[in-house]
Amino acid sequence: MKVYLDNAATTPMDQEVIDAIIPVMQNNFGNPSSVHSFGRSSRAIIEKARKKVANYINAKPGEIVFTGGGTEADNMALRGAVDDLGVNHIITSEIEHHAVVDTAIAVGDKHHIKVSFVSFDDKGYVDISSLERLLAENKDKKTLVSLMHANNEIGNRLPLKRVADICKASGVYFHSDTVQTMCHYKFDVRELGIDFLTCSAHKFHGPKGIGFLYINENIQIKPIITGGAQERNVRAGTENIMGIVGLTKAMEIAFRDLEEHQNHIQGLKTYMIRKLEEIIPDLTFNGDPKGDSLYTVLNIQFPNSDMDEMLLYNFDIEGIAVSGGSACSSGSNTDSHVLKNIGADMDRPSLRFSFSKYNTIEEIDYTLKVVQELFAVKV
Ligand code: PLP
Repeated sequence: MKVYLDNAATTPMDQEVIDAIIPVMQNNFGNPSSVHSFGRSSRAIIEKARKKVANYINAKPGEIVFTGGGTEADNMALRGAVDDLGVNHIITSEIEHHAVVDTAIAVGDKHHIKVSFVSFDDKGYVDISSLERLLAENKDKKTLVSLMHANNEIGNRLPLKRVADICKASGVYFHSDTVQTMCHYKFDVRELGIDFLTCSAHKFHGPKGIGFLYINENIQIKPIITGGAQERNVRAGTENIMGIVGLTKAMEIAFRDLEEHQNHIQGLKTYMIRKLEEIIPDLTFNGDPKGDSLYTVLNIQFPNSDMDEMLLYNFDIEGIAVSGGSACSSGSNTDSHVLKNIGADMDRPSLRFSFSKYNTIEEIDYTLKVVQELFAVKV
């Protein structure tokens, strides 16, 4: 049996998404910047898509900038805030995706600006009082707060509205990396009052290499990639029309069936937690999977055994695809900046299991059987 439980890394494309892209590949090759009919028809497809995408998150079409994925969108927000909005202080966390934390450090070094890090509580949630303290201590600075909505390795969620309100009250900019949560939860940017949001289509059954950055209409940033006036002068380069159509279709499907998928996936996760606790009493979880946790992610800390370094491979041999953390492919968790920073036990092997709407209870039962065999324990 082959079981794909690495959906936080990427998801398989929906057939409906593929079906939506094919005619565009066949018929719409015109450059959207061209003024002739071929170009105009490509332009019309992109603008229709932008309108649809904006609608799903209650944004205005002009607030959506299509990018080459989540990493680029994160870079655009952080670099734009420093280069164009006069930001001279970034508050972020050490468990952000590298697209944020490495970029914050890079722009901090380059422009000699201060980068501050929030702290965490014992379950790995952002300590909101540490954010408030950092804001109070740096009132003289122009600050950007960049905190992800849900962590891609452990699944802990941030109270997004609460943080947006704190940022608004403090008069600072707020960016949230919503790559793991966009199309897994509903968003209303007007109600949230947020400045930047990041999206990547391949995390919700869309194509790779396409995403968007939501930029509030009151904010104007310059492109980090220059050389053309595309995307209203914010992102140069001929638009990825196939990707844009695929992203939009994936978004449409995600929001069409959102509750059904949420319930199904949460059910798989809850079932797996309960069964794992029965079969391996010595097992624990990283983060807070029974708390305010992204329903697609379960990070398991296994007991030590003679296969610690090879655990991921052992699952792979049995046909089960899981992950050792975003920066780690070896199966050991020594590279995970997330687990290190939340104070997880780094001497024990941890693996991330992440689910999608395509996973079944039979696949979870098979995975549990493999866990049982690997650890030679009885139910
Ligand atoms: N941010 C988070 C939280 C992610 O999980 C990822 C992907 O792993 C990214 C950003 C990067 O997105 P992309 O792969 O589209 O560049």
